[in-house]
Amino acid sequence: MAELSSTEQVTPPVSDAPDVARATALLEALPSAAAFFLRSGMLYAVNTLGRERFVVDSRAPLSSQSWKVVLLPLGSAGAALLSRVAAGEAPSTQYAPLGREGVMVDVRAVPFDHELLLLTATDATARDGQRTESTRADRELTTLLALTPSSVRITDVAGRIVQTNGVADLEHPTPPPTTVRELWEFDAPHDIANNRPQSFLESTAMRALSGHVVRRQLLEVRRRGAQRVIESYASPIRNERQDVTGVVLIDRDVTDREQVERQLQEREAHEAALHRQVTHEREHLEQLVDERSRALLASQEDRLRERRLTAVGQLAAGVMHDVNNALNPIMAAAYLLRHHAESPDAVRDYADRIQKAVEIGAATASRVGRFIRQEPLHAGGDDALDLSALAEEVLDVTEPMRLRRSSESGAIRIVRQLAPTVGTRGLPGEIREALLNLVQNAVDAMPEGGTLTVRTFEEGAEAGVAIRDTGVGMSADVRERAFEPFFTTKGSNGSGLGLAEVYGIARRHRGTATISSVPGRGTEVTLRLPRAVYVEPAGAAPVAVPPVVMPKHILVVEDHEDGREFLRRILQADGHHVDAVGTCAEAREKLASSAAIPYDLMLTDVGLPDGSGWDLVRHVGRTVPDVRVGVITGWEPIADTGESHGAEFVLRKPLRAAELQAHIAGGSTPASTTE
Ligand code: ADP
Ligand code: MG
Repeated sequence: MAELSSTEQVTPPVSDAPDVARATALLEALPSAAAFFLRSGMLYAVNTLGRERFVVDSRAPLSSQSWKVVLLPLGSAGAALLSRVAAGEAPSTQYAPLGREGVMVDVRAVPFDHELLLLTATDATARDGQRTESTRADRELTTLLALTPSSVRITDVAGRIVQTNGVADLEHPTPPPTTVRELWEFDAPHDIANNRPQSFLESTAMRALSGHVVRRQLLEVRRRGAQRVIESYASPIRNERQDVTGVVLIDRDVTDREQVERQLQEREAHEAALHRQVTHEREHLEQLVDERSRALLASQEDRLRERRLTAVGQLAAGVMHDVNNALNPIMAAAYLLRHHAESPDAVRDYADRIQKAVEIGAATASRVGRFIRQEPLHAGGDDALDLSALAEEVLDVTEPMRLRRSSESGAIRIVRQLAPTVGTRGLPGEIREALLNLVQNAVDAMPEGGTLTVRTFEEGAEAGVAIRDTGVGMSADVRERAFEPFFTTKGSNGSGLGLAEVYGIARRHRGTATISSVPGRGTEVTLRLPRAVYVEPAGAAPVAVPPVVMPKHILVVEDHEDGREFLRRILQADGHHVDAVGTCAEAREKLASSAAIPYDLMLTDVGLPDGSGWDLVRHVGRTVPDVRVGVITGWEPIADTGESHGAEFVLRKPLRAAELQAHIAGGSTPASTTE
């Protein structure tokens, strides 16, 4: 390197060199601090910026000023450059501080001609500012890329990957892909939407390089050693002329999200399936319940029907049993009568036995009748009753029985809880009968003794009487069947008719009978009847008129031959004159032709082959109203239906001769039933 010394002689510029003025003008055109130096190292020309930046003594001639001084503000950079250029090296630029203000300049030295060297110091601050800006943008971008959870790759226009972030760096083994081609090979992307492998040309990077913006392409790729699902975005980078200079590739790993979504979808599908199944099951269940309910209903109906049939069968069997029992001694007596016909005592004895047997049979029939006959009593055809008084009566009547029981086994204590008067209306005989049955049952239920409580009460519109015992009680089964006729747990000691009768009587009186019972603790049966004001009846009941037998002219209408014949004989035995016929027509004929000796009385059966006895009753009422009429029936007399009104009296079969005689004799006694 040529070392120029300030002591060297200043040679004047050769002729082809620009004069100082022209050189200075040239320098002024430059936007930098600039100066021409002679190869000797002396200053030749300098522009205004140069005078400000460099050390130039304006009072001394330029040629006396060496670059060593002039370029002091550039430190060693200026002299070094100049000497290198002077030595024939290629011109170069050096970045250097100018002075102490921190101004940076680009220092450049170039040979101008064979005599002059040009040195320029161009202010680099502006360019530096730009550089700082871009550096900052660079740093910001880098930070951004580091922060984003997506992988980011930036390529140049040739598809070379020039920048990646940390996420991207982790995605592939080392060495990582350096081109989009390699990236595609590593990834082996599968297009999820179209369900097929993605070709290289279709890859997001290639599409971006061809100028397309790719938004959210769902791909399955091979990354981090596993199959992952990514969302891929790509966008071309363009310069000011809109040429594509590279692409930005951004991939988001959504494997987890996809998995969650898939799981969610699967769960939804599963739930939907479950819901369908549950709905189906429910429908099936409902159908099942429906079917079962119908079956149950049907079976309930069946059971009900069965129970009704059982009850009817039981009723029939009971009646048969009792009737047979009643007929048995009659049959025996008839046989014996024939054998001992000559012995009046024997005949009378058999007659008594026959009568007793008939009484027993009739009692059964009557009790069954009371159960069957459940139609309510007609208001007015009954009496004002005091349940307390009736209960007291029943307790009196049953005292001997209770006393007998008490002495046989344990004592039975009686507790009376009787209200002063408990008014209702009805047939006192029936109520008495009902209470009698209840007391009887209570006593039966306490073989070891106990307490019998009789309570009467008025409750709202009801008058009640309750019979309670501390006896054996009833099981649920027994309680359910207790009201059935002929249902008994007492074997041959029970008829099974007591509670059936109570039930029928309660119904007839528009009331109820209820049982509450605890096995081993006792039973209470309560009778509730419509409440009514009780007024003590004025005067005593009429005393029965003693029968005075006056021979009468009597017409008997009875289709049953034996019945007709017996009736005729009974009446004839009392001295009456009797005509007996078997049909309504015959009866009408007799009545019509009897003007000579008019009938005093007609006794008629109800069920006749050619009509009802009641029709005859009405016929007599219309045509021969003076003839008295009595009705004899095997049916329970139906009280207060109006049908009995034409008849003076109604007698029930089996006919009791004494009763009949009383009615015939007591010409003016009012019509009554056998009760
Ligand atoms: P019976 O007394 O002839 O058996 P009932 O109709 O009066 O017929 O009674 C039917 C059945 O009800 C009785 O056999 C008995 O089992 C039951 N029962 C009735 N009353 C009572 C009672 N007070 N305590 C326990 N069981 C009773
Ligand atoms: Mg009984």
